Parts: sequence; C-alpha cells; structure tokens
Amino acid sequence: MILIDGKKAAAELREELKLEVSELKTKYNKVPGLTVILIGDMTPSQIYVRNKEKSANEVGLKSEVIKYPDTVEEKTVLEKIEELNKDETVSGILVQLPLPKHIDKQKVIEAILPSKDVDGFHPMNVGNLSSGYESSIPCTPLGCYLLIKKIEPNLSGKKAVVVGRSNLNGKPMTQLLLKENCTVTITHSRTKDLKAECLEADIIVAAVGIPELVKSDWVKKDAIVIDVGINKTDNGIVGDVAFNEVSKVAKALTPVPGGVGPMTIACLLKNTIECFKRSQI
Ligand code: NAP
Repeated sequence: MILIDGKKAAAELREELKLEVSELKTKYNKVPGLTVILIGDMTPSQIYVRNKEKSANEVGLKSEVIKYPDTVEEKTVLEKIEELNKDETVSGILVQLPLPKHIDKQKVIEAILPSKDVDGFHPMNVGNLSSGYESSIPCTPLGCYLLIKKIEPNLSGKKAVVVGRSNLNGKPMTQLLLKENCTVTITHSRTKDLKAECLEADIIVAAVGIPELVKSDWVKKDAIVIDVGINKTDNGIVGDVAFNEVSKVAKALTPVPGGVGPMTIACLLKNTIECFKRSQI
C-alpha cells in the first residue's frame, strides 16, 4: 500500500512555489501578496491563520493578517474588503471562516473580487469551475486532486465516488474529477446504500466529518482513498476512513493527520500566485 505523504508533497509544492515567486520577482519587480482577515479569537482559526502566514512568508509572498474582534460590524469588514480589492499589492484575499453569527458569510464572500478570491468560494469562481473555465479552486479539493494525480496521472474513465457534498469540499472535488474524465458519483447523508456506491469506486474521496465512516469492506481492492476528515475523538484526531483496516485493501491512502491537511495551505499559496499571474496579463 502506498501511504500518500501529504507533508512531503506539500513541502515539494512549497519549494516549487518559492522558485516561482523568485522568478516573478525578477520579472515584475514585485511579489504576490496574500491578505487574511481574521475575526474573533477562536483558537483553531488563529492556528490556521498563523500557519498560513508562516507558509506564505516561507515561499516569499508578501503576507498580511488583519484582525478584528468578534464584535466588529459587518460594514467595517465589507469596507476593508473593498479597500483590499483596490489595492494593487494585494493579489489574494481570504476571510477566515467561520464568522460570528451577525456577519453574513455569503455577503462577505461575494464582496471579494473574484480575481482575488483565493479560496475559490465566490459564485463566479464556482460557476467557472463547473463550466470548465479558469478559476480559483477551493484549496482542500485542489490539494486532494494533486495527491490523486501523483498516484494516478491518467484518471480518464476511472470511477470516482465523493462522499459529502459541501460547497467547500465535495462539490468542487466532483468538478475536478469530472474535468479529468472520471465518472463521478457524489454521495451524501440521504444516499441509500453508501457502501455499495463506494465498492464501485477506483477512487474514493471522503469529506464527511464522521470518524472512520469508510470501512475496509466498502473499498474495492486497489482503490485510491483520500481522507479529508478531521475528527477529534478520545483517541486523538482521526479521519473519515478507518485507516488501519482500509490500508490493508487500498492501493493508496492518505493518513490523518499528515495527508490532505498540509496540502490545503500549500494550495492557498498556489492560488495566490495564480491570482497574481492572471492580474499581470
Ligand atoms: P460539511 O459541510 O459538514 O459536509 C458534510 C457532508 O457529509 C454533507 O454533504 C453531508 O450530507 C455528508 N454526510 C453527513 N453524514 C453522512 C453520512 N452518514 N453518509 C454520507 N454522507 C454524509 O463538512 P465539510 O466542511 O465538507 O468537512 C468534512 C470534513 O472535512 C470535516 O471533518 C472537516 O473537519 C474536514 N475538513 C478538512 C480539511 C483539510 O484541510 N483536511 C478542510 C476542510 C474540512 P448532507 O449534505 O446530506 O447533509
């Protein structure tokens, strides 16, 4: 079984991006800039943002974090986004989710210029991705896609099953696999026989949020299994796939932690660089 090492893949991607940033600096005499807006003091969000800033600096991006207390008015955030939209030194804008209840998430997402939307959540980017046009792609599914392509460069005709249909993970993942000419089934909480669907798959991507939902007798021999789940349990952090048993049947499997997670941040940096390059045309 191939253990898909997301940490290693992310480190390799960051090295490639570092080189690219240095070439862009030579060519344009400036570097891509990422601005993250962090609202409130939720610990996980603070950790994510700190890691994003550290990684951005590591590859040579200009990075900035704007912090607001969780009492900040929606208007203040929207005005700041408007200002960042106009700022030529800012290539990418990310508002760390979740937001306090009094702030309308969709309004915030739609306030970001689609060309600076490094999360790929703006409806324009969602539409472009599903129409097969150039777009920012949500970072976690992009990371999954790059890991799958490392194992199997030609996905044409493969049967893929995506478990979970969130806007963040399942839906964009489906679009990426479809673009690669996979035959894709997207499943969710109302799917009648999830085990039977999974057993058909050459590729399974599980993005559900239920600890160890996908068992070994759901997985076809030699399938590629990508585990997006991050679930806190009494036994520590586990994924949506029962790692120990599935590793006995799968051809390749991502661990949790150390699989998809590290790729998510590396893909955010990649998206920032892509936004910068598109803005220079
Ligand atoms: P979400 O928005 O809660 O969506 C979960 C999806 O799973 C929904 O579509 C839901 O179906 C489906 N589902 C729930 N129970 C199911 C069941 N019994 N059988 C089949 N499908 C079921 O979650 P998310 O934001 O996509 O996140 C999923 C997991 O990924 C979480 O553990 C999260 O922490 C993790 N995550 C990891 C990363 C990373 O970087 N590795 C990034 C983001 C999220 P319905 O639509 O029918 O409700």
